[in-house]
Amino acid sequence: MRGTMQESPLLIREIFRHGQQVNRTSEIVTFEGGGFRRANFAEVGGRVERLANALRGLGVREGDRVGTFCFNHQEHVEAYLAVPSMGAVLHTLNVRLFPEQLRYVIDHAEDKVVICDAAVAPLLARVVHECPTVERIVTVGEGDVSSLSETIGYEELLDGAAEGFDWPDLDEHEAAAMCYTSGTTGNPKGVAYTHRSMYLHSLASTSSVALGIAASDRILVVVPQFHANAWGIPYAGWLAGADLIMPRHFLQAEPLVKIIELERPTFAGAVPTIWNEVLRYAEGHGSDLSSFRAIVCGGSAVPRSLIERFEQLYGVPIIQAWGMTETSPLGAVAIPPRGVTGEEAWPYRTKAGRVAFGVEARIVDGEGSVAARDGESVGEIEVRGPWVTGAYYGDDAPDRFHDGWLRTGDVGTVDELGFLAITDRTKDVIKTGGEWISSVELENALMAHPDVFEAAVVAVPDQRWDERPLACVVLREGADTRAEELADYLRGRVARWWVPEKWSFIGEVPKTSVGKFDKKVLRAEFAKGDLEVVSTGGPSSGRS
Ligand code: ADP
Repeated sequence: MRGTMQESPLLIREIFRHGQQVNRTSEIVTFEGGGFRRANFAEVGGRVERLANALRGLGVREGDRVGTFCFNHQEHVEAYLAVPSMGAVLHTLNVRLFPEQLRYVIDHAEDKVVICDAAVAPLLARVVHECPTVERIVTVGEGDVSSLSETIGYEELLDGAAEGFDWPDLDEHEAAAMCYTSGTTGNPKGVAYTHRSMYLHSLASTSSVALGIAASDRILVVVPQFHANAWGIPYAGWLAGADLIMPRHFLQAEPLVKIIELERPTFAGAVPTIWNEVLRYAEGHGSDLSSFRAIVCGGSAVPRSLIERFEQLYGVPIIQAWGMTETSPLGAVAIPPRGVTGEEAWPYRTKAGRVAFGVEARIVDGEGSVAARDGESVGEIEVRGPWVTGAYYGDDAPDRFHDGWLRTGDVGTVDELGFLAITDRTKDVIKTGGEWISSVELENALMAHPDVFEAAVVAVPDQRWDERPLACVVLREGADTRAEELADYLRGRVARWWVPEKWSFIGEVPKTSVGKFDKKVLRAEFAKGDLEVVSTGGPSSGRS
């Protein structure tokens, strides 16, 4: 029997229309360094229509790719809404990509128009002359754009365009936006989100089993709009009617804390390294971070020490989440099970998260068999669901998929309540004497030491054990803790054979373009002999 309900496609257009009509007074607030610029959703809605008309005037048709090379601000949200709604495809370009990768992704996606922050025009100028598909460049904001030839200013473009746009009836399975993974190995791979996947993902983000984004929220959107669509937060905020506070490129601790104190956001999302810096600055300056009802944090493992400190000082819960560019990115959110609070909640809060409604997860062992959901059986995590990619754009990668599931490249466990624990990336685990050491667990144990600001653990070759862990440690200011003390601290907290005997004290952990620990740089520095390494004696008692 067929159901009786109407067919209406799930389109970004509907998210846009709803927010424009019913959330008229909600605001986008953009930090400009000195002060803030504000526009309500009704005003922004008119500008979105004008942008669509202007892009059409530049020759953008359905299916064409429009790149953005921008930080987080009002105009970038306008592009988020206009480009997919008019049937074109929004391609957010990571401002921090190496030139070669940037050229590759523009070329691979065949971007026709690029909307570029004037402030980063020279970065685009380095490569765009080698990108034959790019016909027009639109520049946003103040800055010297002379390095780019033939640009048109965003405001000038909108001035010449009318409001009102006859949004097309699209097939919900058409691409709405695309992102490339940051490509830690090989070329970046493209994920093309559909209207349907983004619509469902936005709804999921507003639900109480995930981020619970609501009209009462003021969201500080720290995670860059070029990183997995800022975790989908601009769309969820627009549909819910939350205010969006956009920090542009002011992502250092000092301006972020200033924005928090002045605008008093209730919610925010960013990777742990950002919150670590914000916390360090706020502690040193007696700042007030108490306005948040919650902070969502993910992209890499969130140390318990960070969650504890935020809660103690400001009463703000940090909620860990897990996801990937390939999963839109919402995959799992570490909300403890019903009735579990206080101390008992820690084992759940420190896991990567509980699978979000819409996403299924399973563990597959080294032989390709599905392992038990018992929180103990370790293997690669595989996921599937309506906002998980089923392929890469124009790039066959059969090894990344398995019977219709995405292979995440993350190693871990799933328990019977659906909580994922990530012990490592497949490429970062330390294989020692036939056993695996989780670099992430060692890092978390080290970062719980009061003198340790950051710690990254990488595998280095070892004649006897194949690989051994090298701990690269950044101490807090003023601390001069010795490797031997840290090794002692780890004994009793992790298995004895896990304790590293090679240590390097470094000024800062190198980070990737999206702010994660860049362990391949540390491995390369070690291989070249560029790291100063101290030893604390071999894995004395072995693993017996
Ligand atoms: P890339 O893989 O290009 O760095 P992503 O941002 O898509 O870009 O990264 C996804 C990866 O980030 C996941 O596969 C996982 O390894 C890691 N990750 C995300 N959230 C967490 C988390 N809460 N704990 C541990 N690792 C995480």
